[in-house]
Amino acid sequence: MKIAMVGSGYVGLVSGACFADFGHNVVCIDKDQGKIDRLHAGVMPIYEPGLDALVDTNVKAGRLSFTTDLGEGIAGADAIFIAVGTPSRRGDGHADLTFVYEVAREVGEKLSNDAVIVTKSTVPVGTGDEVERIIGETGTAHRFAVVSNPEFLREGAAIGDFKRPDRIVIGAEDEFGREVMRAVYRPLFLNESPILFTSRRTSELIKYAANAFLATKITFINEMADLCEKVGANVQDVSRGIGMDGRIGSKFLHAGPGYGGSCFPKDTLALLKTAEDYDSPVRIIEAVVKVNDTRKRAMGRKVVDALGGMEAARGKKAALLGLTFKPNTDDMRDSPAIAVAQTLMDAGVHVAAYDPEGIEQARPLLPGVTMCANAYEAITDADVVVIVTEWDAFRALDLARVKALAKAPVMVDLRNIYNPQDMAAAGFAYTSVGRG
Ligand code: NAD
Repeated sequence: MKIAMVGSGYVGLVSGACFADFGHNVVCIDKDQGKIDRLHAGVMPIYEPGLDALVDTNVKAGRLSFTTDLGEGIAGADAIFIAVGTPSRRGDGHADLTFVYEVAREVGEKLSNDAVIVTKSTVPVGTGDEVERIIGETGTAHRFAVVSNPEFLREGAAIGDFKRPDRIVIGAEDEFGREVMRAVYRPLFLNESPILFTSRRTSELIKYAANAFLATKITFINEMADLCEKVGANVQDVSRGIGMDGRIGSKFLHAGPGYGGSCFPKDTLALLKTAEDYDSPVRIIEAVVKVNDTRKRAMGRKVVDALGGMEAARGKKAALLGLTFKPNTDDMRDSPAIAVAQTLMDAGVHVAAYDPEGIEQARPLLPGVTMCANAYEAITDADVVVIVTEWDAFRALDLARVKALAKAPVMVDLRNIYNPQDMAAAGFAYTSVGRG
């Protein structure tokens, strides 16, 4: 099959490279000339484990290529995926569909054969209908179907998730769409990955429902963590104790600084807007969004408390370890680190930080933060060390060295990666999340 992937970001590039690895011929298209130039030069525009090797193999095999020219890229494609960004619209939180609709129009205008157009971007219910209308409006003479195929991969584990998904969801309104999608995913079908066919609107909603449910699970355990601190209980044991119940499941029950990233914050907000538009409130998600919003600054205040309170904190130094919203990505979008750093700077704390992959993306978002070349440089002369993102590199810090370099042996561990007893034995004043 020939596949065109419009948008070569975290989702488009990984999906395109994986489809090529299945044996399809794939063209990844992006309007960002810099991104395409880097890809031509064999340089990955994003950090995702294993992506450079996967891209390299498939480019060399002649199955994967890159272009900025949409007309050329979609020529002869059986399936044209739209994988462009759908950020929160400034001001109201609705999903901004400008990029999706731009691509739909251009695809309609440049379509040179019959094809299935697939929205892989996360889009609100009804977007497929609008994409169909826009393409129809261009007056294309070619047969086309618009299908919804939301993506569930996680950054940092994207290739494995794409190749071994829990399920593939396909929302199609006609047999042409379903048939092409069956062929696109046949290699996974052979792997016994379940494919769920639904209506297009149902498929669009499944993606938001999934993300909202996961955000709820995280927020639930975060509130339990706060309660644990008050009553002297241990949230990790609470997670284990409830997670062993098959009806609940153990995943997404790690207490921390609140969810962030390129998906949960914007997708929960967009779901609220859809619910509002259809006069069908989703009050649980309203609460989740509010609780999570306030949590990030609360985590900054936890650090201020560890520095002895507002007055004592002024002029002191905090070392933040980890800035990305989770490990194994360079993605800084809506990372809790931004609010934590901001809260500290608002309190007059000097902030130094280190992240294994996120520094370049973090720099413009956190202009007041001193970016360091490694963890120990950030820790030097710090009054408090803060674990913000649980990169493996921070799980086994040389505690004697940390103590020697820091001004005071104080650690705030927002990811619970250290053991309170061990830290006390090592002479640290140690605060974590939900372990009263
Ligand atoms: P991204 O910002 O990394 O990539 C989007 C790309 O689209 C950019 O490179 C941009 O230059 C390109 N683009 C925009 N307009 C274009 C146009 N007219 N023609 C060609 N290229 C164009 O975004 P992402 O993280 O890959 O997310 C894409 C979509 O997938 C979003 O809707 C997101 O919600 C969804 N999604 C993301 C993830 C994730 O983990 N990042 C997971 C599941 C779903």
